[in-house]
Amino acid sequence: MITNTFGSSRSAALAAPIGPDEVDPHPSGRIDDVTTPGSSATSATQTPATQSPATQAPSARRKRMLTGDRPTGKLHLGHFVGSIENRVRLQHEYETFLIIADLHMLTTRNTRKDIDEVSRNARDMVLDQLAAGIDPEHATFYLQSAIPEVCELNTLFQNLVTVPRLERVPSLKDMARAAGKDEMPYGLLGYPVLQAADILCVKGDIVPVGKDNHAHVEVTREIARRFNFLYGEVFPIPELVESQITTLIGTDGQSKMSKSLGNAIMLSDDAATVRRKVIGMYTDPNRIRADIPGTVEGNPVFAYHDAFNDDPAEVADLKERYRAGRVGDVEVKDRLTSAVNRYLEPMRERRAGFERRSGLVDGIIVDGTERTRREVQVVLAEVKRAMGITGSYNQLRRKAERARKRRDA
Ligand code: ATP
Ligand code: MG
Repeated sequence: MITNTFGSSRSAALAAPIGPDEVDPHPSGRIDDVTTPGSSATSATQTPATQSPATQAPSARRKRMLTGDRPTGKLHLGHFVGSIENRVRLQHEYETFLIIADLHMLTTRNTRKDIDEVSRNARDMVLDQLAAGIDPEHATFYLQSAIPEVCELNTLFQNLVTVPRLERVPSLKDMARAAGKDEMPYGLLGYPVLQAADILCVKGDIVPVGKDNHAHVEVTREIARRFNFLYGEVFPIPELVESQITTLIGTDGQSKMSKSLGNAIMLSDDAATVRRKVIGMYTDPNRIRADIPGTVEGNPVFAYHDAFNDDPAEVADLKERYRAGRVGDVEVKDRLTSAVNRYLEPMRERRAGFERRSGLVDGIIVDGTERTRREVQVVLAEVKRAMGITGSYNQLRRKAERARKRRDA
């Protein structure tokens, strides 16, 4: 069973639309749009017994981490060094939300076939992360599209950023190009806005992501600041957590490791597959014989040795001999194969343990999604109160009710 740090305070939190340190902009208005599965409408006059961590004063609540991946396939070493390593490291320090970002997937892959593959890919991704060391007792995984409130937040955020600002985000053009799109889809331009909704819908404090996502986190920070300026302090300003290796090059040495480019070593690859991929790696093209001095800098084989080989003395020795023309590519790659397999072996063991527990991953995703949805509903209600949106409808409804009563009298 998956437990979480909120435990039983969760349902009480849902009956807590306004915390003691918040100012209700509509003190006489009904705040009853926080309806959740299994909970009835609540009223602003209720005094909360327990507050949701989402609405607690920043000093009182446990800080949160939000990050994740698009469910386009299995995860690879690039995902690991760019983000997952930090997720594992920080998961006990922060309350952790890990998104399976299928709405973001639609920005570049939206055929019926792509969508039909989401549930399988979601399972694979979660299993990859459990294998990598994410503790399902602490982290909450969730499927983005199952939380429609995120789309509402996205809509509210769309006016807090300009089109030229989004057009300056470098990764979006790269993504459009990689997806073979001549023109930028509207949704892809809005990718960082939807990402801001993901991060802020749980009031994320830290966001560990790879280089291609750094500019997106900056957009989130701008949106959070703009929101707080216009409507009052609702959001934390999330911090980017940079990894040591911000972009891992692919095995082809041409561009970042990416499964769609076929240049990736998957976290789930077996030892023989790792060997085959490493043997086929791009290396110094000028080095046609082992006795020709080679270049280490920018050489992906050595980039991987630096990233994954746990024996620095071996790496230093290989580099020295490579520069001097005293080692063949075969030995360098053999040693890399062993190093990557040593690196992945503990993941393989953990994976086998999780795989044996039938239905575990599906349960983790469903429980996590339901839990996250309840948290997001609380935050969205706070957002709408801060903006005064809840009040507009409540005023109309009160007048309509009064008029109806007069008519019926
Ligand atoms: P792929 O192209 O393989 O589908 P992606 O870029 O679509 O990968 P996302 O799901 O968008 O993957 O990103 C998930 C996280 O992994 C992000 O934080 C991203 O920065 C990081 N990431 C992905 N590829 C790499 C890489 N080669 N090096 C470093 N970080 C990476
Ligand atoms: Mg992807």
